[in-house]
Amino acid sequence: MDRPDLVHLAALLSPAADPYLEQMAARSAEITRKRFGRTIQIYAPLYLSNYCINSCTYCGFSAANTISRRLLSIAETEAEAELLHCRGFNHILLVSGESPKIMGVEYLLEMVCCLKERFAAISIEVQPLTTKEYEQLFAAGVTGVTIYQETYDRTVYKRVHRAGPKQDYDYRLFTPDRAASAGMREVGIGSLLGLSDWRAEGLAIGHHLASLHKKHWQTGLTVSFPRLRPATGDFKALEPVSERDLSQLIFALRIFDPDVGLTLSTREESRFRDGMIGLGPTRYSAGSCTSPGGYSEPERAGEQFAIGDHRSLLEVFNAIRAKGFDPVRKDWDPAFQVTTQVDRI
Ligand code: SF4
Repeated sequence: MDRPDLVHLAALLSPAADPYLEQMAARSAEITRKRFGRTIQIYAPLYLSNYCINSCTYCGFSAANTISRRLLSIAETEAEAELLHCRGFNHILLVSGESPKIMGVEYLLEMVCCLKERFAAISIEVQPLTTKEYEQLFAAGVTGVTIYQETYDRTVYKRVHRAGPKQDYDYRLFTPDRAASAGMREVGIGSLLGLSDWRAEGLAIGHHLASLHKKHWQTGLTVSFPRLRPATGDFKALEPVSERDLSQLIFALRIFDPDVGLTLSTREESRFRDGMIGLGPTRYSAGSCTSPGGYSEPERAGEQFAIGDHRSLLEVFNAIRAKGFDPVRKDWDPAFQVTTQVDRI
């Protein structure tokens, strides 16, 4: 069968495909097994800061919320990193609110420098940066960038992003392109599910993937499926997404794009995450904490959102193994990055 196009994707996302969910799951599982084998990559987020100059109505870190704010020092970051390293993590995702004056590229470079000895892969999920800034971070050891558009619906985007530079829809939309142009090995995109019609979001994600693949065929692309979770403030999902909807979205995107990495984070509950093992997702977070310094001080407030799967790394490993899959803690050899950088000179 030819590779599905956007018309096929629209059909897979449509209400008419819902009765065929089981067949879609089987096809998605088959494609995933063929392309990724019986492996699930594991990573942990490390929150560096919850300062943010944007007012996103759905987020606990919004500048409009009165919460205790914190920026980790090098010593505090090292303490968090050491805990994650000792727990067995080899891939970390550095996360922060968007506050370039408090947490700019210089700060990130310092953090990456002190973390790269401990981890085989370091990715970032921070404010959108310029191509030059991504180049600096790549040279320092960052290999992946995640940046969610949140919603591809311009009207909703305007409504939920009330203040701050994030109001610039187009600058955010072209951030994955800048990160890939800078040489990042992996670039992740996604929508915050619950803000707008998930079927339209799925189609927009497919479109975004196709255009990135075309221009950056050498870059690995990933999609995450963050569903809105409770957070500080009283925001409720505008268009709730059920587990069945989320499953259809994941299967549809897998069938549409066999090569894309699919991430299912601890936002989802353990029952759902376990049920999805082998059916499409290729990467799971585990043992996550969503506040800066939260691994060292779990009782400390200031989390971005409440998580759904509270299991330890070992428990997640066991669940993956029980399904006959291998949890992989390392997906990237730093030695390969040296080769890549030499190739680029
Ligand atoms: S979603 Fe990101 S940019 Fe928006 S308030 Fe939260 S941390 Fe800041």
